[in-house]
Amino acid sequence: MLSVEQARARVLESVSPLSIAAVPVADALGLVLARTCIAPHSLPRFDNSAMDGYAVREEDVESARTESPVRLDVVGEVRAGEPGALEVRRGTAARIMTGAPLPNGADAIVPVEETEEEGGVVAIKAAAPSGRHVRPAGDDVAEGDELVRAGTELGPGELALLASMGFSPIDVRKGPRVAVVVTGDELVPPEAVPGPGQIRDSNSVALGALVRAAGGEAVPCAPVTDDLSATVEAFARAADLCDLVISSGGVSVGRYDFVKMAIEELGRIDMWRVAMQPGKPVVLGTIGDTPFLGLPGNPVSIHIGFEQFVRPAIRKMRGCSTLLRPTLVATLEEAVHKSPGRLHFVRVRLKWSGGKWRATPTGSQGSHIQSSLVDCDGVARFGADASVLNEGDEVMIEVWKLPAQ
Ligand code: AMP
Ligand code: MG
Repeated sequence: MLSVEQARARVLESVSPLSIAAVPVADALGLVLARTCIAPHSLPRFDNSAMDGYAVREEDVESARTESPVRLDVVGEVRAGEPGALEVRRGTAARIMTGAPLPNGADAIVPVEETEEEGGVVAIKAAAPSGRHVRPAGDDVAEGDELVRAGTELGPGELALLASMGFSPIDVRKGPRVAVVVTGDELVPPEAVPGPGQIRDSNSVALGALVRAAGGEAVPCAPVTDDLSATVEAFARAADLCDLVISSGGVSVGRYDFVKMAIEELGRIDMWRVAMQPGKPVVLGTIGDTPFLGLPGNPVSIHIGFEQFVRPAIRKMRGCSTLLRPTLVATLEEAVHKSPGRLHFVRVRLKWSGGKWRATPTGSQGSHIQSSLVDCDGVARFGADASVLNEGDEVMIEVWKLPAQ
């Protein structure tokens, strides 16, 4: 049986980054930058005022104090957006607004609070060394600087800088279209009242949400009954529509588990079963040219299998430079037991206290215990060879989210 790392490597080999699209910078939140952006010019582009006040020359105002102000002739005004063609000669000043270009001759700004203007003359009550309250050209970015690297998921900060530098449209990769096919005769929609033996289909909801949270576009498909020809038909249709097909259920050794058979009929199986708990019976394959990942049906198994295999695959297709979750070391607050042999993923809640992260298991760890995924911050890796983790042990956590403190 493959280890999680070996299996993930196979999954990642089977997918490639999608093609590049140009989108307006304002529409690129959460998309992944496809080419590194280099500054075509400096930022700011021109020396400008950081304050509303007066543009002056250092040597004119050296002796200015509240009790002995220096008086300067006001030669005009520069507002933000104006070219700032004024000239500030010796003995003069220009009224200036925040963001307006520094007029020729001036080298400092005196804030309006330290001045008093009357009849075209301004009394300056404080000295201003050269450069005071001036934002020089290139203060932020120099021409040729690397702005944002290819593979970055674009957030508001990156988008704003790229917009300032004129990068619109920008080259990005969008998320893959991911078909979510759930299998099972027992399923009814969440809105329905289940009959005897039936259950509500929560995996469609979970997988759709997981796909979107990973940056993919979830394409819902009608649930499939446990029937070979229905499964073949559903997978063929899904592969036609999408960049990746994922499924839940029907991958085990039950009499009515048809997923593997359907994939063999439509393409090929590259791997089956991974040494992990929960979620062992994972299928990797292809339907024609479309990659396929089949997860077992248990609600916790799909979550763990998605995290270990599907999310990294979606991120690779998006062109992300990092594929895996961040990790941290936490102190376990409660002992956990298991049988040796397979890597276990223990769902935990995290808490920062006493100068370290502390992890508490989210209750029963059975693969059908959906309540263990509520307010879950991530998983602790519980190594294949170990059988007990003691209270106080340091464990590696794959972080899904961090709690507010
Ligand atoms: P399977 O992998 O098909 O044997 O399913 C394993 C378990 O997961 C069974 O108890 C199923 O009833 C349950 N299950 C399968 N599909 C879903 C689904 N879409 N939503 C919720 N539970 C499911
Ligand atoms: Mg089933």
